[in-house]
This record gives sequence, C-alpha cells and structure tokens, in this order.
Amino acid sequence: MLEVIAGAMEAGKTWLLYKRISDAKLMGKKVQVFAYPVHEGHVVSRVGFKSKAITVPTVAEIESQLEPDVDTIAIDDAQLFNAHDLTNFCNKHRKNVEIIIAGVQLDCFGENFGAMVEIMGRAENVSVLLGVCETCKKQTALVSQRYRDKEHTIPITIDDPKIELRKEFYAPVCWDCYQPPV
Ligand SMILES: [Zn+2]
Repeated sequence: MLEVIAGAMEAGKTWLLYKRISDAKLMGKKVQVFAYPVHEGHVVSRVGFKSKAITVPTVAEIESQLEPDVDTIAIDDAQLFNAHDLTNFCNKHRKNVEIIIAGVQLDCFGENFGAMVEIMGRAENVSVLLGVCETCKKQTALVSQRYRDKEHTIPITIDDPKIELRKEFYAPVCWDCYQPPV
C-alpha cells in the first residue's frame, strides 16, 4: 500500500503526514519515520510540532535501518532523495508494509521534483495540498519560486546552482504567478 502526500511547500504536507503517523500508532502499528537531513533528527512542520525521525541522506540508509516487524514507513522531504532509488524502494516494500511518502511535487523549474510525480502515478492514495501564493495570496500555490535573496526580490536564472536546500530562498506560488527562471 502506497500513499503520497504531495503539493506545494508550506501547504501542510508534514502536518498531514504527522496525522497519518499518529493514527497508525493509535491502530497499534509499528511506525518508522525517515526524513532527508534538513531538520536533524526530526520531522518539523511550520504549524508547530515536531516528530522524531531518523534522518538519512540516502535510500540505502533507510533500507539498512528498517526493522523487520515495521508496519508503516513514513518518509518526509521525499523529493530530496535519489529518484530511482526511492521508486525502487516503494516498488519493493509496498506489498508488505504501508508506505507514506510526503514531499514537494514540483521544483522551482516547474518540473517533477525527485521521484514525486512518478510515485504519485503509482500510489493508491494521493493528496495534493495547495499553499497560499506569495504573489496573489490565493490558495492555489503548487509550484515554488526561487530567489537569490531571503527578501525574495531577485529571482534566480537558469545559471544558478540546481540545488538549494534552504527554504527561505523559496516561496510557494500559483501557476498564474510563477515565472520560470530564464
Ligand atoms: Zn498567484
């Protein structure tokens, strides 16, 4: 069983993941929570809670830390893991365990972020959470606009480095307001 919680940044994905984790524990399931090491040792939601997580930079390390009797595997910031490895991981384990993947769906180039869109297409249950667009303030944000500065005044160009993990350089925007890097 494979569930994906996708959508924009700052849209409540980690909040919904936290609910899934809490519910699984209430049902008596053994849950393991993993996250890319952005927040060391925790899954952190902007709405103000933390859940303990094993932070690992590779899918191989998730694999090596899996406990044999796990029922539910939750993975946050899944867009940052190697796409090929994460897709294979889901294909391999979904028969025996419940896998819940949370991550940002589209990157700042408007493209599939990591394995997210690929995994969404294979999942039994998909939630797409929209954020509030920084520009028009409507609750329709699905893509990220990336800037060179924390004040969000200078958009990046296509020559900027592809990877920037610091969230303060991004804003959720809707497709109408989104301006692709040129
Ligand atoms: Zn907008």
